[in-house]
Amino acid sequence: MKLGIYGGSFNPPHLGHLHAAIAAAAYLQLDELLLIPAGIPPHKHFDDPGAAHRAAMTQLMAEQAALEAKIPVRLSRMEIERGGKSYTADTVRSLHEQRPDDELWLLMGTDMFLTLQDWYHPEEILAHAGICAFGRSERDTEELFAVQRNYLTERFPNALIATMTLRNLVEVSSTELRAMLPEGGRYLTPQVYGYILRERLYGTNLDLKRLTLEQLRPVALSYLKAKRVRHVLGVEQEAIRLAEKYGADVEKARFAALLHDCTKKLDMDEQLALCEQYGIALDEVERVSIKLLHAKTGAAIAREVFAAPRDVCDAILWHTTGRADMTTLEKVIYLADYIEPSRDFDGVETLREAVYADLDRGLALGLKMSIEELEGYGSPVHHNTREAYDFIKSKLGE
Ligand code: FE
Ligand code: FE
Repeated sequence: MKLGIYGGSFNPPHLGHLHAAIAAAAYLQLDELLLIPAGIPPHKHFDDPGAAHRAAMTQLMAEQAALEAKIPVRLSRMEIERGGKSYTADTVRSLHEQRPDDELWLLMGTDMFLTLQDWYHPEEILAHAGICAFGRSERDTEELFAVQRNYLTERFPNALIATMTLRNLVEVSSTELRAMLPEGGRYLTPQVYGYILRERLYGTNLDLKRLTLEQLRPVALSYLKAKRVRHVLGVEQEAIRLAEKYGADVEKARFAALLHDCTKKLDMDEQLALCEQYGIALDEVERVSIKLLHAKTGAAIAREVFAAPRDVCDAILWHTTGRADMTTLEKVIYLADYIEPSRDFDGVETLREAVYADLDRGLALGLKMSIEELEGYGSPVHHNTREAYDFIKSKLGE
């Protein structure tokens, strides 16, 4: 199989890296791509927030790249774990030993390609991996690259070299990009930008307890798996519409929508650790249901990390089960989560119509569908959901 290798300091990973990774994956028809942040890069001295942060940001970008390139894109910590200066020759040799049957392709930009002969043991790199160099312009690719390609193949006769032009390659260096951070997250994916704000990297110094909604959005997205971003942005849009229609506080609805699934990607052990940390009591059903736990831990994060108001935390807390006598804001979040635009389950159109015709009747239908679905799977139905359903039915006089 064809394995792409894309190393760099990734300090931070930006849209230039993302677009190059996606384009190279298609051009080389890769089966898999590894993004490998350097432990200590040999070429650069820089403002480094540390390998752990660079790896975390690279992981966020890897998920995004996988979604767009439709191949597995994985973060590899091999250079970080190896310690010391990171030499590509060591990385390529060790990947060749681990995966002797794979065809390795090393991805790199213009500057790297033009100095390849000066790297540590270039002969070893070229013995085990093909080189895929991408230039930003025709000039890079044709004129500059041809000279270098001829030089390399003369010196290393077995070298395999592919070059490509990426017309829309984002032209920005990490140094320039870090300097632009105080003004916003240009050239970064929202998730990487949000991670930088959340961890206060590169001199950004936001108080997480006083974020505007525009600042909260990327921060909230940085907690998610890439594939869940669309859902959460959909819940925000749906919550705005419902809050406006039914007279809930729109800002609070957006706040709750953005954070409602902020702990969804954590596994059971991580969920239980948060419950322990924030003193969250669990009943029998909750203790074994990760789906129920994320609502409780999400509400705790909203309160403790972002100082969300009580009613916002409650809307997050009840977004999965509902409860008897829900507030309008709680109904808005529960239903926005259920019917946001990317939902496409059987019956969603009927539910959308019901919700926009009458909030309480929509809620009753949503709860009924949820109970029937759980019973259909033979899953336990939380008593809060049954109480929510009984309450709303009696309120409606049914
Ligand atoms: Fe959820
Ligand atoms: Fe959700």
